[in-house]
Amino acid sequence: MMNSLEIVALPAFADNYIWALRARGGAVAVVDPGDAAPVLAYLAATGTQLAAILVTHHHADHCGGIDDLLARHPAPVYGPALEAIDGVDRPLADGDQVALAGLGIEFEVLAVPGHTRGHIAYYRRGMLFCGDTLFGAGCGRLFEGTAATMHASLARIRALPADTQIYCAHEYTQANLRFAAAVEPDNAAIRDRVADTAQLRAAGRPSVPSTLAVEAATNPFLRWDAPAVIAAAQAQLGRPATDPIEIFAAVREWKNRF
Ligand SMILES: [Zn+2]
Repeated sequence: MMNSLEIVALPAFADNYIWALRARGGAVAVVDPGDAAPVLAYLAATGTQLAAILVTHHHADHCGGIDDLLARHPAPVYGPALEAIDGVDRPLADGDQVALAGLGIEFEVLAVPGHTRGHIAYYRRGMLFCGDTLFGAGCGRLFEGTAATMHASLARIRALPADTQIYCAHEYTQANLRFAAAVEPDNAAIRDRVADTAQLRAAGRPSVPSTLAVEAATNPFLRWDAPAVIAAAQAQLGRPATDPIEIFAAVREWKNRF
C-alpha cells in the first residue's frame, strides 16, 4: 500500500511545506496549500490531477492558495468545521473519516486544538499530517488555546504508534533543536538529531517527516514527564512542579522567550 502512494514536500514561502500525496493512477491530494503556485507547478510537471485539498487550520499560509487552485482544478476541500475557511466544502470534526476515492486511501480526523481553536490533523496508519500542532523538535504557538488544550492534543499524538511519520507544515527543526538542546544538554538523541538534521539541510533536503519515536526522544514538547525536562522547567519556574500541563506550559513559555 505504502509503495503506491508517493508523498512529496512542496516548499512554499520562507519555510512552509505543502504536502502532495500522489497515487499511482495520478490523483493528487494536497495538504495546507497556502500558495497555489507550487501545487500548480507540481501538477503540471507530473501530469497529475488534483483530487482533493486538505486543510488543518485557518492561517493564510495554510489555506491562502485554495481559491486559485479551485479556479483551475475543481476538487473537494476538507477542513475543520470549527473554523471559517473560504472554499472548504467538506467540514470535519474529530473522529470523522475522510475517504479520498481517487487515491484509494482514508484518513481519520483528530481534533488537535491549541495552535488554533479548531485545528485538525489527518491520520492513517503510518502517517500524520499535523499542520502547526507538532513540528520537528517543536510545537506550534498557542494562539487560540491554553497550555492545557495543547498538552491534551500533543498527548493524543504521542499515543499514536511510534513508527508514525510526522508530516508537519514548517521547516523549523534546526532552530527547534537549539532550544531542545538548551532544555536537555545531556540528551544524546538530541545531539544525534542535530547532526542528522544538519546533514539533511546541507544537502538541501527537508528535515521532515520524522517519526513519532524520534519526536518522543528529542522533542521537549512531548517530554513533559522526562526527569531532565521536569528539572529544566522547574528551574525556569523557580519552584517545584511536576504536573504535566504545568511542565509543558513552562517549556512553551521559555521557548517563546528563547
Ligand atoms: Zn498556523
